[in-house]
Amino acid sequence: MRAVRLMEWKSDPVLVEVDDPVPGPGQVVVRIGGAGACHSDLHLMHEFEPGLLPWGPPFTLGHENAGWVHALGAGVTGFDVGQPVAIYGPWGCGRCPRCLLGMENYCEQVQDAPVPGGGGGLGFDGGMADYMLVPSARHLVPLPDGLDPVHAAPLTDAGLTPYHAVRRSWPKLVPGSTAVVIGVGGLGHLAVQILKATTAARVIAVDTRAEALNLAANEGADLTVEPDEGAVPVIRESTGGRGADVVLDFVGSDSTIALAAAVSRFLGDVTVVGLAGGTFAFTFFSLPYEVSVQTTYWGSRPELIEVLDLAARGLLRPTITTFPLEEALHAYRLMESGSSLGRQVIVPSPGP
Ligand code: NAD
Ligand code: ZN
Ligand code: ZN
Repeated sequence: MRAVRLMEWKSDPVLVEVDDPVPGPGQVVVRIGGAGACHSDLHLMHEFEPGLLPWGPPFTLGHENAGWVHALGAGVTGFDVGQPVAIYGPWGCGRCPRCLLGMENYCEQVQDAPVPGGGGGLGFDGGMADYMLVPSARHLVPLPDGLDPVHAAPLTDAGLTPYHAVRRSWPKLVPGSTAVVIGVGGLGHLAVQILKATTAARVIAVDTRAEALNLAANEGADLTVEPDEGAVPVIRESTGGRGADVVLDFVGSDSTIALAAAVSRFLGDVTVVGLAGGTFAFTFFSLPYEVSVQTTYWGSRPELIEVLDLAARGLLRPTITTFPLEEALHAYRLMESGSSLGRQVIVPSPGP
């Protein structure tokens, strides 16, 4: 089969022929119908170095995947060949207290996971290939009616990650509150939709690109702002001087974290999701009182089921552009140059 593989750190992925995977006991092979291209893959290609993580190349890219069950390993029940499924991406040990709650993103026994702290497309072979081996049937979530693998794929990360970040702040997103989304790309455009679908907050979107701000406005953002020197006063003014109850930073650079802190409201949440590696000098006076600052990583399996439900009911509508497998590198280049809108999804197979 064909696979888009990262062969070593600090290199571009290559399209190569590899053997078709064969499922062992308890495992499942999925025919991939959609594999999202995430900005994290650009960090993997350009910034990661040997020794930084307990895993490394070579492996097949693609950590947001959906498709159709292709082959069931011995002992797997409850799934039929041809059934459409989403693949829950972070793979933990499956047995620790967090994993038992479906929060494999925060597994506490990573030494017993298929790849410590990773998953398919992150150390283990992912979905930018004709087929993907899923090491346990528990990572499969059946697709609800009305949702196809091409649209479901980005929901497993670009949807799930902002959903988790928004959901944990739900109690603060009451009527009269404001949420700021910084970076309206793959994750950010779905964050705007998730805020609109699940909260009563006013939504302010921030991006450097006019087309991303247009997308945010089309998704229902109440105000769009460029991150220049006028951003802080504009956001403060639009909230009656109070600031934003929740700021979600899908960039994570020095300047975006500083902006997030500067527009936050007493008792608010600043949640950094982007991996740009920015730092923030924390002092008693550098944030309004009782602002909580956190990073989040991906989301839980129960949350993925909720995200898929929102999408099946038409409340989440990922904006996607599709590419055949041989154009995966081109899709990454477009994202890198700031020419992508929403999420780019690689489609190895148009059907089961
Ligand atoms: P993307 O490239 O699709 O979107 C990024 C957006 O940010 C673009 O629209 C870009 O124009 C905008 N942007 C860039 N610099 C900006 C700035 N200074 N101010 C405002 N906007 C700016 O990327 P994505 O796939 O949505 O990923 C976003 C980030 O989230 C990446 O760093 C990625 O690695 C990270 N990520 C984290 C998790 C997690 O679990 N924590 C999961 C997935 C992705
Ligand atoms: Zn990702
Ligand atoms: Zn675990």
